[in-house]
Amino acid sequence: MSKTGSFAHGATKELLLSEVRVTETGCWLRERSISTKGYSRWEKKVSPWPYKWPAHRVYHEFFKGPIPEGFEPDHLCRVRHCVNPDHLELVTKKENILRGIGPAAENARKTHCPQGHAYAPANTYRSSRGERVCRTCKRARDRARELVRPKRNRKTKGLRVAQALVS
Ligand SMILES: [Zn+2]
Ligand SMILES: [Zn+2]
Repeated sequence: MSKTGSFAHGATKELLLSEVRVTETGCWLRERSISTKGYSRWEKKVSPWPYKWPAHRVYHEFFKGPIPEGFEPDHLCRVRHCVNPDHLELVTKKENILRGIGPAAENARKTHCPQGHAYAPANTYRSSRGERVCRTCKRARDRARELVRPKRNRKTKGLRVAQALVS
């Protein structure tokens, strides 16, 4: 690695990690060079990233690879200056705009599910419709379904046996 310019050939893992504060929820807070919108900016003249680029993009590219054309990183944790690549989800620009205005966006800004569980990354996933789903509630729903399932299963099984006898 060349020594021209302190980090001319890209930052190191050690450097990137030395600039974040890890919280209990796993957020990597990069508290320097925060923009008016609340994002941390890449204020170093370090290739290959442009000066003042959103820092979460830098961390994503460094740890997880490039962001494909047409996609934008969206914070699952809703903490804008968090740069933990695991807290970012790549969404299309259109999805991101949808999340910015209207009821969908309002919902996306909520930090807790209707039952009061935190939308922490480990407790959150996206439904096929792109909505955030609380895993704790999902587990509770699954358990509730589990309780009624045996009855239903017996019925359909009986039905299948009957059909098999007829055909
Ligand atoms: Zn985070
Ligand atoms: Zn919940």
